[in-house]
Formats: sequence, structure tokens, C-alpha cells
Amino acid sequence: MVRFVNVQNLGRWAADTGLEPLLRDLTTELEGHFQRWPLFDKTPRVGSHSQHGVIELMPTSDGITYGFKCVNGHPINSTRGLQTVTAFGALSDVDTGYPIMLSEMTLLTALRTAATSAMAAKVLAPVNATTMALIGSGAQSEFQALAFRANLGINTLRVFDVDPAAMAKFERNATALDFDVTLCGSVEEAITGAHVVTTCTADKKNATVLTDEMVTRACAAGGVTGLHINAIGGDCPGKTELDIELVKRGSVFVEYPEQTFIEGEIQTLPHDWPLTELWQVLTGDAVGRSSDDELTIFDSVGFAIEDFAALVFLNNRLDGTDYYDEIDLIAEPADPKDLFALLPVKQPATIS
Ligand code: NAD
Repeated sequence: MVRFVNVQNLGRWAADTGLEPLLRDLTTELEGHFQRWPLFDKTPRVGSHSQHGVIELMPTSDGITYGFKCVNGHPINSTRGLQTVTAFGALSDVDTGYPIMLSEMTLLTALRTAATSAMAAKVLAPVNATTMALIGSGAQSEFQALAFRANLGINTLRVFDVDPAAMAKFERNATALDFDVTLCGSVEEAITGAHVVTTCTADKKNATVLTDEMVTRACAAGGVTGLHINAIGGDCPGKTELDIELVKRGSVFVEYPEQTFIEGEIQTLPHDWPLTELWQVLTGDAVGRSSDDELTIFDSVGFAIEDFAALVFLNNRLDGTDYYDEIDLIAEPADPKDLFALLPVKQPATIS
């Protein structure tokens, strides 16, 4: 039997655990896996691109456990009453090849993306950052806010979205969670006075949500010298959020360069562009923020090891709970060579 975690059970598990404790523990789990990065099989994810979006397969293994996620990104979906991002994934035992757990990963992706953003910000954001601007207040936004409060103590949020209904939804949810929320009339207004800017917009184009001039003006107006940009929405070829001049000015940190050069903000830059792999900052082999007035950019696209970490984290917490069902996913005939025995084939009538 294989464990199966559906959306309702994942949501119940997360709410019962407590979102901020869960996001803190998940961040710690991610840090552990990033610190053993060289052990993992790594490959850029395999994307199937279409007019409105992409479906991607994200596999990895640490030699003992194998994990994959299947995820889509369809910015048009919100106009159809559908999610931009949905996902499911599985863990398997490398020794036998048998699946261990199958899980919904739409909620789990939001949790792992927020925890990964916070993990990066812990080593990249200005010390004593108190204020975050959120540009894009769709499905990911509350998770980002909670992960930053859980890990960095950031409680003041300045928010802008082109969709007023998305902003109203965010204000409703975040106020109930006791965040100090200011809704803003423009991106520039939102980032003024912020020490961290999270861009989590969805548009299938090379957008310039933040320009270099805008960031320079907003930092000067807000009296902010050092800034950390957590850019999560640029994650596909032809789908970016930042003015390339802004990217060139910053110190860029990435998950897996081979994938980020295909999908991230740096996709138009030469492959010898100076950047730092986040895992090396976490092992102490590279420096994170190096000065108070630095512009740091986490060019996040989402990597398979983050999903592996989230699935392992979830699976380890399922023992003795009712947050999963057991499903009959593996064919197990009494004689492994007699797979045919599992077919309810009627015996032909004997000829007398
Ligand atoms: P969503 O569609 O629910 O929300 C996106 C929001 O951005 C919408 O409310 C939309 O109105 C707003 N928006 C679009 N263009 C904007 C602009 N120019 N300025 C301000 N707001 C704008 O999507 P989501 O599920 O919240 O995902 C957000 C983004 O994060 C997507 O692009 C998704 O692909 C990406 N993502 C990245 C990772 C990662 O690991 N890096 C993981 C999950 C999702």
C-alpha cells in the first residue's frame, strides 16, 4: 500500500500543525537538504510548453529516496476560475523502486516556495529588516508573508497587485493573521521603505515589474540603503519580472544555475555571469549578504530538491496520524512473475 495525501488532508495537517511553526520547521528541513546538495541527482526540469503555460516534471534522488513533482504554470488560468499553479508529487524507495507516498502538491508547493524564499532571505536580507513589499497578492502571497514572519520576524507588509480584488482578498486574510498591512496604489509606492521586496506576479511575458530607476528612487525616498529582492514569479523561458539593468546591478543568488539560465531572471545574460549558488552560502562555502548597502537578488525558479525536502518532511510527519489514506497503487501478485493473475479474466467454457 502507498500513502496518499489529498488536498483536504494536507490542509488539515498544515492548519493543525500551525502554519508558522510548520514554515519554520520546513525552512530548517530545506537548509539540511541544501547543505548536502552535492549528493543529489540534478537536472533542469523537463518542461512541456504550450500557448498558455507549461507542465513541468521535476525529479531528483539522494540515492536512498527518489522524488518527483509534476507542476503546471498557467497565468491565464485565473481568468478561467482555475489556479495558476497546481501540482502533485511522489516519493519512491530507490532500493526497490516502489512508490512510498503520493501527495497533492499545490498547497505543499506554496509552503515549500515560501520556506525556500525565507531560507534565502535569512542569509541575504538586510539585518533587522522589518518591512516587506509584496508585488502580486495571488495564491502564493499569504504563504510568503507567513514564512517571512516565522523566520525573520517581518510583520509589516506593503502590497500592490494590478487586480484590486486580489489585494482585498490579501488584506482580509493578512489582517486576520495580525499582519500590519498597507495596500498601495503602485509598485513604486509599495516598495518605498521596504527592506525586502517579493515579486510573485504571474504573466507569460518578459515583464518589468521592477525597474532599476524605480528601485533607486524608492530606496532613496524610503531611506533604505540595502535591499533584498525575492523574485519568484520569473520562472519560465519568456516569463520574467525584473528589468535586466536591475539584475545586473545586484548580487544574484540562484538554486541550480543550469535551470536558472533557462528559466530565471538571468535567462538573457551570458552563462558566465557572476552568480552564487544558494547551497554554497548555506554550507558556508560562499558569502551571502556582504555589506549593509548591497542589493541582493534571489532569482528563484523552484528546484526539485525543494520539493523532495517538502515531501520527505511531510512523509516523516505522517506516522500515527490520519492525514493520509492507503491506496492500492502497486500491483502485488502472490507470484511476482504471474502478473496476469491479477486480471479478472473469465475462463473460457470448457468444451465437453
Ligand atoms: P496567481 O495567479 O495566483 O497570482 C499572481 C498575481 O499577480 C495575480 O493576483 C495578478 O493579478 C498579479 N499580477 C500580475 N501582473 C502583475 C503586475 N505587473 N503587477 C502586480 N501584480 C501583478 O499566481 P501565484 O500562484 O500566486 O504565483 C505567482 C507567481 O509565482 C507565478 O508566476 C508562479 O509561476 C510563480 N511561482 C514560483 C515558484 C518558485 O519556486 N519560484 C513557485 C510557485 C509559483
